[in-house]
Amino acid sequence: MATKLPPVDALLVGFGWTGALLGQELTDAGLNVLALERGGWRDTTTDFATTFVQDELRYYYRHALFQEPARETLSFRNSTNETALPMRQLGSFLPGTGVGGAGIHWNGQNWRFLPSDFLARSHNTDRYGAAALPQDMTVQDWGVTYDDLEPYYDKWEYLCGISGKAGNIKGQMQPGGNPFEGPRVRDYPNPPMEMTYGPTLFAEGAKDIGLKPFPAPSANMSRAYTNPLGVQLGPCTYCGFCEKVRLWELLQGESSDHYPAGFASQEELRAQDRVRSHQDQPGQ
Ligand SMILES: Cc1cc2nc3c(=O)[nH]c(=O)nc-3n(C[C@H](O)[C@H](O)[C@H](O)COP(=O)(O)OP(=O)(O)OC[C@H]3O[C@@H](n4cnc5c(N)ncnc54)[C@H](O)[C@@H]3O)c2cc1C
Ligand code: SF4
Repeated sequence: MATKLPPVDALLVGFGWTGALLGQELTDAGLNVLALERGGWRDTTTDFATTFVQDELRYYYRHALFQEPARETLSFRNSTNETALPMRQLGSFLPGTGVGGAGIHWNGQNWRFLPSDFLARSHNTDRYGAAALPQDMTVQDWGVTYDDLEPYYDKWEYLCGISGKAGNIKGQMQPGGNPFEGPRVRDYPNPPMEMTYGPTLFAEGAKDIGLKPFPAPSANMSRAYTNPLGVQLGPCTYCGFCEKVRLWELLQGESSDHYPAGFASQEELRAQDRVRSHQDQPGQ
C-alpha cells in the first residue's frame, strides 16, 4: 500500500546544479522543499576527500559517475525511415546521475554571454541592415539584457569561486582581461588558474602579433576560498583529471559543495528516488 507523505511546498525532481540552486532559493524564501534524486547520495567527507583515489578504470572507462544506459537511455535514428534504437553506450556527452548531477564532472568553463548575444535580432540588423536576415528567419532578441542578468552572473561567480581576470569593470577596460566582455561590477573572486607551458607559449605568440589573450574563467579553484554561504572550497592540484575522473572536488567548487549549506531546516534531499510519473491534483 502506498504511504502518503506529508505535503511540501515545492518538490524538486533531480538534484544537480538546478535543483541545488532552486533548493537554496526556495528555502531562503521560507518554503518547505523536498528534492528527489534518482541516483546515489554523495557528500564532501565520504566521496570527495582529498585522499580519494582517482580511479581511472572505474570513472574514465566504466563511467561510474554517469547516467547508466542499461537503466535509462535515449533512442536514436539517422532518418525517419529507420526505427529508433536505444543507445547502449554514451559517447561524447555524458549526463550525470546521483547527487550533484552533471555538475560533479563538468569542465567548469564559466563564461558570461556577451551583451550582443541577448540581442540576436537587433544587434545583427543594426550592424548589417534589415536585409541581412531572411524574412522567414524568426530569430528574436531575448527580452532580457546582459545588464538585467549581470547581478546574477556576479552572484553565481562568487558562489562558485570562479577563477579569472576581469576585462571590463564598470566600463573601465582592465589589462590582461577579456576585452570583449560586457561591464561587470567587480573582478572575479579568485585570480586566474596558473597556466601550463602550452597556453603560456600560445599567449606569448598571440601577444607578439598584437592580439589580447586572456585566461579563460574557470570554476576550478586557483586558491582556497570560502563562498558567501560559508562553504569552504579547496584549491585545484592540477591533477589533470577534469571531466571524467573528477571526483574529489567537492572541496573544489563543484555543485555539491553547496549542498550542506543548502540543507536549511526546511529542505530534505532523498537519493535513490527516481520520479516515474506525477499527477496534478487541483486544490492540493
Ligand atoms: C561532460 C560534461 C561537461 C560539461 N562542461 C561544462 C562546462 O565546462 N561549463 C558549463 O557551463 N557547463 C558544462 N556542462 C553542462 C553543465 O554541467 C550542465 O548544464 C549542468 O550541470 C546541468 O545541471 P542541471 O541541474 O540542470 O541538470 P543535471 O546535472 O543533469 O541534474 C539533473 C539531475 O536529475 C536527476 N534525475 C533525472 N531524472 C530523474 C527522475 N525521473 N527522478 C529523480 N531524479 C532524476 C539526475 O540523476 C540528475 O542528478 C557540462 C556537462 C557535461 C555532461
Ligand atoms: S584537481 Fe584535477 S580534476 Fe580537480 S579541477 Fe584541478 S585538474 Fe581538474
